[in-house]
Amino acid sequence: MGSNLTIQKDKTVKMKNKHALVIGASMTGLVTARVLSDYFEQVTVLERDELNATPTSRKSVPQGQHLHALLAKGRYLLNHYFPGLTDELVAQGALEGDPTEKTNWFVDGGYRYKTKLGHTAILLTRPLVETTVRRRVMDLPNVTIVTKVDVKELLASADKARVLGVKLEHRQADGKPEVSELHADLVVDCAGRGSAAVKWLAALGFDKPAEETIKVDLAYATRTYRRRPEQGDEAYFISPTPPHEFCGAGAFPVDGDRWVVTLAGYFGNHPPADEKGFNEFARNLPAPDIYNLIKDSEPLTEIVTFKYPHSLRRRYEALKRHPEGYLVLGDALCSFNPIYGQGMTSASLQADALNTLLAQADGNLQGLWRRFYPAASKVVDGPWQLAAGADFAYPQAQGRKPAGADLINNYIARLQRATHHEPVVHSAFIACTNLLAPTSSLFAPHIVWRVWRYGGQRSRPAARRALSTFASHSAD
Ligand SMILES: Cc1cc2nc3c(=O)[nH]c(=O)nc-3n(C[C@H](O)[C@H](O)[C@H](O)COP(=O)(O)OP(=O)(O)OC[C@H]3O[C@@H](n4cnc5c(N)ncnc54)[C@H](O)[C@@H]3O)c2cc1C
Repeated sequence: MGSNLTIQKDKTVKMKNKHALVIGASMTGLVTARVLSDYFEQVTVLERDELNATPTSRKSVPQGQHLHALLAKGRYLLNHYFPGLTDELVAQGALEGDPTEKTNWFVDGGYRYKTKLGHTAILLTRPLVETTVRRRVMDLPNVTIVTKVDVKELLASADKARVLGVKLEHRQADGKPEVSELHADLVVDCAGRGSAAVKWLAALGFDKPAEETIKVDLAYATRTYRRRPEQGDEAYFISPTPPHEFCGAGAFPVDGDRWVVTLAGYFGNHPPADEKGFNEFARNLPAPDIYNLIKDSEPLTEIVTFKYPHSLRRRYEALKRHPEGYLVLGDALCSFNPIYGQGMTSASLQADALNTLLAQADGNLQGLWRRFYPAASKVVDGPWQLAAGADFAYPQAQGRKPAGADLINNYIARLQRATHHEPVVHSAFIACTNLLAPTSSLFAPHIVWRVWRYGGQRSRPAARRALSTFASHSAD
């Protein structure tokens, strides 16, 4: 072990299990480490990247430069595990607000009717939330984060039935790797979509989990701008309306008095990375808000891009055999179309499901994987179906289409139009997309009635007002 790897931070905590290892110190790894800290004497998080104390984007989490929404459900969960987190984020410049009130959201020819949901989401940069949560995890007496270590393989018992730890490479100051081993009662793989879990399991003689994909051929292009006080603190969304519109955008006021502006395009309609093309793409969107915003704002960064070919769900819950002492969580289990902003919340839901099982297990980890994967699958089902259903509103989407998707999408299209006029429908939709309520809540009789009543109306001038309000801001 390299001399700078201090694993035993606090030996005083007495628990039934001694040591848990977490691979990856991104959002899933951090929330998981927090959960494990209640059940293991020591938790060690192993991270490949060098981590900065200040919020900066980093190599292995390139998505961190793009628009990241922390959904209302995710905010609740993070505050549960890290009390006071919202206040800490807001003190650093993040903006907390009711998403139905603080978002100018254009979809299908009109703006959603502004109302009050009664729950808040947070607008912030991804590096800010990760750095703040990481600081809280590092404050836990029995958690250690070790950086610049690359986990290379799993260590298993002679009969391969149990994972005993990991083999890792630690980059020394002179750049040379030092190989070592770490043993643990439980290894939790939070290494993201590129996790080697499938390969490592195969090397131990286990089947690969079945993979479900939905091809969307999506790309993001993002730029950060200076935010002036007169530009306000409301977010802007322009959603493409399927099946004929493929391009949309979001602009969030975030920490550091900045705007993060992300342009997005489905099925090859990708936003360009050069300034002229970027601005032109924004100008051609179905509403002018975001173009008006960027044409009058000072860019602070270059334009960065991200390609997202397909959503990916690995069906670990269907495996018949799996080693003891090992679990896979987060993007490594399910990577969602980022348009819906579900990743961090889904990761927190999975960590929360693990918490419930560990509390019930009373220290007995035998068969944990048999209980965890179905529980994780259950919490992933809702957001996955929501996103998959919406993606299949485009005939170009490729993958396993959920039964009844066309029927539901026809209803959702009408519901989207009803949100232009009707606060109850708008609130129900935002509660659902923020994972506060199940999709089935959109089919409650009082919603169906309003969708039928208002979904056929043309967008009212009042609903269009947000557009002219912002245009006049930018003309100032
Ligand atoms: C463009 C884009 C936009 C998104 N927008 C949103 C959004 O608005 N809202 C939202 O909630 N989610 C969003 N997401 C998803 C979100 O970023 C992820 O769900 C979230 O980061 C949790 O992922 P994770 O921790 O499982 O994996 P990752 O964030 O990918 O992190 C994996 C970590 O594991 C480390 N690692 C990997 N392999 C090893 C190894 N062998 N040894 C040591 N360390 C290793 C990596 O260095 C990294 O730190 C978006 C994703 C993308 C791609």
